[in-house]
Amino acid sequence: MMKKYGLNELREEFLSFFEEKDHLRLPSFPLVPKDDPSLLLINSGMAPMKAWFTGEMEPPRKRVCTCQKCIRTGDIENVGKTSRHGTYFEMLGNFSFGDYFKSEAIAWCWEFLVKRIGLDPALLYPSVFRDDDEAFDIWVKDIGIAPERIAKLGKEDNFWEQGSGPCGPCSEVYFDRGLDNGCGAANCAPGCDCDRFVEIWNNVFTQFDNDGEGNYTELSQKNIDTGMGLERLACVCQGVSNMFEVDTVMNIIKKVSEISGVAYKREEKSDVSIRVITDHIRSATMMICDGVLPSNEGRGYVLRRLLRRAARHGRLLGITGHFLCDLCATVVNENSSAYPDLMEKAEYITRVISVEEVNFGKTIDAGSAKLTGLIAEYGKRGEKTLSGADAFRLYDTYGFPLDLTIEILSEQGMEVDGMSFDAHMQEQRIRARKAREALGDLAWAGIDFGLDNTPTLFADSEEQRSSILAIFAQDELSSSIHEGCEGIIVLDKTPFYAESGGQSADFGTITADSGALLEVRGVQQKGGKFLHHGKMLKGIMSVNDSVTAKIDISRRRAIARAHTATHLLHAALHTVIGEHAQQAGSLVEPDKLRFDFTHFSALTDAELADIERRVNDAILDGLSIKAAEMPMSEAKELGAAALFGEKYGDIVRVVKMGESFSVELCGGTHLDNTAKKGAFSIVSEFSVASGVRRIEATTGKATLAMLTTSREHLSRLSGIVKAGAPEEIYDKFEQHMATFRELRSKLDAALMKESRGEAARMLTASHDIGGLKVIATVFEDTDVDVEKLRQIEDTLRDMEAGIVAVLAITKDDKITVMAACGKKAVQMGVKAGELIREITRICGGSGGGKPEFAMGGGKDPAKLKAAMDAVEVYVKSKMGV
Ligand code: ATP
Ligand code: MG
Repeated sequence: MMKKYGLNELREEFLSFFEEKDHLRLPSFPLVPKDDPSLLLINSGMAPMKAWFTGEMEPPRKRVCTCQKCIRTGDIENVGKTSRHGTYFEMLGNFSFGDYFKSEAIAWCWEFLVKRIGLDPALLYPSVFRDDDEAFDIWVKDIGIAPERIAKLGKEDNFWEQGSGPCGPCSEVYFDRGLDNGCGAANCAPGCDCDRFVEIWNNVFTQFDNDGEGNYTELSQKNIDTGMGLERLACVCQGVSNMFEVDTVMNIIKKVSEISGVAYKREEKSDVSIRVITDHIRSATMMICDGVLPSNEGRGYVLRRLLRRAARHGRLLGITGHFLCDLCATVVNENSSAYPDLMEKAEYITRVISVEEVNFGKTIDAGSAKLTGLIAEYGKRGEKTLSGADAFRLYDTYGFPLDLTIEILSEQGMEVDGMSFDAHMQEQRIRARKAREALGDLAWAGIDFGLDNTPTLFADSEEQRSSILAIFAQDELSSSIHEGCEGIIVLDKTPFYAESGGQSADFGTITADSGALLEVRGVQQKGGKFLHHGKMLKGIMSVNDSVTAKIDISRRRAIARAHTATHLLHAALHTVIGEHAQQAGSLVEPDKLRFDFTHFSALTDAELADIERRVNDAILDGLSIKAAEMPMSEAKELGAAALFGEKYGDIVRVVKMGESFSVELCGGTHLDNTAKKGAFSIVSEFSVASGVRRIEATTGKATLAMLTTSREHLSRLSGIVKAGAPEEIYDKFEQHMATFRELRSKLDAALMKESRGEAARMLTASHDIGGLKVIATVFEDTDVDVEKLRQIEDTLRDMEAGIVAVLAITKDDKITVMAACGKKAVQMGVKAGELIREITRICGGSGGGKPEFAMGGGKDPAKLKAAMDAVEVYVKSKMGV
């Protein structure tokens, strides 16, 4: 009888089994890949080890085993629907880098499944690549499997390759979950897509190199890369029908049921939602723990999409409030024995999730309402395809994700015009690119200089002799560049620091021995080469010329001041608001810095003052700054922050300020003592994204310049308010304000009196029509302005309930006209709004308003008299006289 292993026990069994076979057990790598732009998130055990497989880097041992956290967003549509796919899962793996090969890998695989775990060999079916007789023979002769039980599969199933490079055949092991779980087809066998034969283990034998044109040569170093889904293994070991029903994951399902009040296994539709939520909250929790934050692109968008999908399935289950942050606590509990950092970051993870959930709640309400309206409109017209423009507006204006639009539409049997949506997206990208170009973005990312892989040597000095390796001028690679031309120069050695890790590039000059001169205005790094962008000010430079590269040292120092300040600020933030304030981006410019960090509310004035004071204290203490390279483990012991994504065994550069004030991993250029930084001043603090705040600050000369400017402002202000000294400004200002208030109220009273006089005069001259007092007056060439006119109208209405007053002023051929009707007039059916419409129609304009008051404008002064005459006509018609 097989023992019922818990998921955590199985993980331990696997890792210790391979440790006994001389493998080095490594912890899971973070989900965020390091130095691998080809991959958004780690999706297999081997992904973080690519450089060990290609031989580019030396592995810590030739045999390694891991349990790797994996995210596969490609499987998102399967989640909840098949029994064996999650976007998050753990992959067990044993790896050989040019050490053991097929016979050991297959033998150990079988030994582990049958002997160690006790799976019934009668339920296990190996598969091999069609042409891999070697593997086939090992299964038959060494292991003793009957040949007819071994499936020979084609390239699409059992040959692993990704473009060019190392590749090779695979041998999988399938577990037979019985007829009940099958599709029932006569040819149902290992490799079928149904849930009967589930692939649990895949052994990849990387033995070939593909030159990219289909020519395979044997590799000198043959590797083993295996992958077994931990949850799938647990699923068969525990005899449950679904990877979400294994012990630790089932506890999350139970929690979803508890929150929603919807029992699991009640009906398929709600079960799918429960499993989707369970899966997505697992992925999201693990991703946030590894440093991913919700955003609108890249892995941040993957996270955002998972959280939003989970939130929406929560609504489908009838959950009205926020629930994802509660669920996340369960995920943390179930996984913290294997991943202790989950517990440390639990509060942080919960806050990231709840901020996103609250924000999405608002988006989804606004967007859903809009979409529901659109569905109804389309329904009336009998249309089934939402136009690209409508879908794009939902996305662009309401922030409503396209995948949600598609999902909701499909529930109504509708779809999106995807092509047209893409076209709108494309247009927006072009607009965004143009905007970037307008900002002077240097578009050199795509240039191939055709150089070898030797990196440009960076020398941390002011000046460096070097030679020109390549030139890019007038939009193409060229052998020289001449006066007036903009371009890029690649050097073999350089003192220029290239834009990296948020630090701005150095500026300076490159001078050829001939006297030719290039002014450098930007430096970037590409494949280890430093690209110096600038303009030729004098002469001609050619490839292979010897040159002197010299940086603008005062700019470099100003950048160093700001960079050092960034570290001090980060340390002070940790002390004042807490360890959760993780760096989420930074920009370091000459004496100016921008630092983004995770935090959930605005910093108070007291917190900001405290942070500023701590940084300035560290400056005044004159802490010494030391940079050193060391292995990761040592850096961790020193307490280095920002360890996201570093690899085990990596050599890292650590920058330390004082004994322990700040310890950070950093490749940038710094001062040697904090005192050289000059005064630090926080300029602003605000939110840049949900849960991310930004501090902008100045150092050195920028702080001094700011002081000078504020002093100038103060002294000008003193002059204006006639204060002898700046501290008298407040008193003087108070006095001036008091005088101003007094004069203002006197003026108001005088104006009121004047308009009452005016109103009274007008009233005596009014015409009586059926008991109403009618006035129609034009003010020509007077100082009566719009405000005064309104005041007179208000006064007239106060004085006489039967008033109908139309007043107009003309200025520069433009007419402004107002009408006011008293209570009695309105009761008798005379309406200011109607009057204004009638009058402005006559004098070529428009206007409107309420029955009591209305105003408008006209353009034809010649018709104004006729328009005013119409007032009496209108009133008479209303009164029937
Ligand atoms: P399938 O065809 O079932 O999707 P796969 O061929 O994509 O599997 P591999 O890329 O060979 O799988 O990954 C190695 C192992 O990782 C698989 O044998 C399986 O145990 C596990 N695995 C792969 N994808 C998932 C997933 N989405 N959820 C859980 N486990 C997975
Ligand atoms: Mg797959």
